[in-house]
Amino acid sequence: FLDPHGDFVQPITVCVRKRPMSRRENNSKNMDIITVPTADSLIVHELRLKVDLTKFLEHHKFRFDYTFDEECSNSLVYDHTARPLIRTMFEGGNATCFAYGQTGSGKTHTMGGEFCGKVQDCGTGIYAMAARDVFEEVSRPEYRELGAKITCSFFEIYGTKVFDLLHTDKPLLRVLEDGRQQVVVVGLREMPVTKVDDVLRLIELGNKERTSGQTSANAKSSRSHAVFQMALHLPDSWGPYGKCSFVDLAGNERGADTQSADRQTRLEGAEINKSLLALKECIRALSRQSSHLPFRGSKLTQVLRDSFVGGKKNKTCMIAMISPSMSCVEHTLNTLRYADRVKEL
Ligand code: ADP
Ligand code: MG
Repeated sequence: FLDPHGDFVQPITVCVRKRPMSRRENNSKNMDIITVPTADSLIVHELRLKVDLTKFLEHHKFRFDYTFDEECSNSLVYDHTARPLIRTMFEGGNATCFAYGQTGSGKTHTMGGEFCGKVQDCGTGIYAMAARDVFEEVSRPEYRELGAKITCSFFEIYGTKVFDLLHTDKPLLRVLEDGRQQVVVVGLREMPVTKVDDVLRLIELGNKERTSGQTSANAKSSRSHAVFQMALHLPDSWGPYGKCSFVDLAGNERGADTQSADRQTRLEGAEINKSLLALKECIRALSRQSSHLPFRGSKLTQVLRDSFVGGKKNKTCMIAMISPSMSCVEHTLNTLRYADRVKEL
């Protein structure tokens, strides 16, 4: 069960990525409080106060499938997280990769690339690296002879609303469930793509739609989940097709916005909280091969239903992003505990 990179292909992989200190964090009195001693462990050194106000360090140690420190590149992270999932898609399964963490921890950097203002900038993220591998695979003679086709879709879940990001009008889409529990996002654009460049253009378009009309890049995008998908279509007689979904989740600290004075913010916070809890339960149900799948717990898990059903063929990877700085310690511990529980049986 080893893939070409020597990775053990298990149904659920949970990893953590620590980003470097930002210039601002380095300039302030902030400290880097995260160490990554091995490739599968991580320690948070929390500065605490005793009752008599003397300071002491509390060390929280965690183990994950992989831990990436601030030196790790997007491409190294990709190799251990999303890359093994491409095969899942070609084997007819649903592969899903989530970027989880607080706003500013590096989710979009990892998924979408360094800066996604231009086509070429998108080339450094997981979306683009996955697209390259998908086209490498689909251009093999056996797939060419079969007439295999790839399509792309990109949408955003904001509260309970779904918006198509591959459409300049960014229309609101309806989500319907048929009698056989199949979930359909009505009218979602599934764009045919024939080369990596086509995909990069769609990523660029989607990213533009995602951040348009926002005062800062993180204002609204931190409150929505973005889902980028590639699907493999084969002639019907050949059987099932596979899908890859990459999800840039809403900032997990937004789930705590339930105390805000602003009603809209409160409702959004409650919905984000609900969706992240439902997501955890669905991933756990997948790992236990449980027959009860609580996918109706949120819009996010409802539209990703295919990722969690279908048994042994499906694979999921969660990359929990953390900030290294002392000022973020609470959010960091929350993120790590969540990631820990996803894997717990
Ligand atoms: P999020 O999407 O989680 O809110 P971003 O991906 O926007 O966070 O990252 C916040 C900032 O940190 C951005 O300026 C981004 O370029 C930078 N950053 C994040 N991760 C890294 C990394 N691994 N290396 C260098 N810079 C990073
Ligand atoms: Mg982001």
